[in-house]
Amino acid sequence: MKVFQSSAVKMRLIGGQLCLDFVNTVDGRSSYSTRGNSPSANNVLGDKLGNYSDLVEWGQHAGIITVLESRRLIEEGRRKATEAQKVFERAIALREALYRIFKAMLTGKTPRSVDLDIVNDELQRARRNERLTRAGDGFMWEWVGPVAALDRMLWSIAHSGAEYLTAGDLSRLRECGGEECGWLFEDTSKNRSRQWCHMQDCGNLEKVRRFRARQRRVSKRKRSALL
Ligand SMILES: [Zn+2]
Repeated sequence: MKVFQSSAVKMRLIGGQLCLDFVNTVDGRSSYSTRGNSPSANNVLGDKLGNYSDLVEWGQHAGIITVLESRRLIEEGRRKATEAQKVFERAIALREALYRIFKAMLTGKTPRSVDLDIVNDELQRARRNERLTRAGDGFMWEWVGPVAALDRMLWSIAHSGAEYLTAGDLSRLRECGGEECGWLFEDTSKNRSRQWCHMQDCGNLEKVRRFRARQRRVSKRKRSALL
């Protein structure tokens, strides 16, 4: 019987790209910089991935592995705990490298080569497991690596990150404007005006915050008028 389900399987997939949704498995990134810690240093503050099983479950939630593959990988991960832990650490390293690269693109900075190296390493591993194959009248890439390979979720994520960086429209990359959110997404709106990861979450919170700030200003003005 399953007694615990990772919060990663409940998160909204709003990034528009697999690699962005993966980066968004951390909530409140804006707070990390101010509090001086990082999700890879200590697993606190809204990190939805705490162990290898979380990673597998997220992979299923994101649609990169099937239910059957997910069960098999969790089983395999239990049998090979040390190996699974290493894959988990690689996943977090990849996630944080992607985040820093995207953040650099957002702020007009040059991404660090050490972060590109991390993505390249994972991409090379992924490439070894893919094959060009026929699909109807055309062709497609197919994963042909072992079904029980513990790192198979990382193949799709590395692939998505590289595809987005080389062929995506990075001028549409955005960071949610919500206070202490920090989720990334691709703004596909016609007039490039999307501000929030999700209107019902950060959009509404921001509206409430602005409303309260306005009320505070009004009551302050009233108080000073009475003095
Ligand atoms: Zn947000």
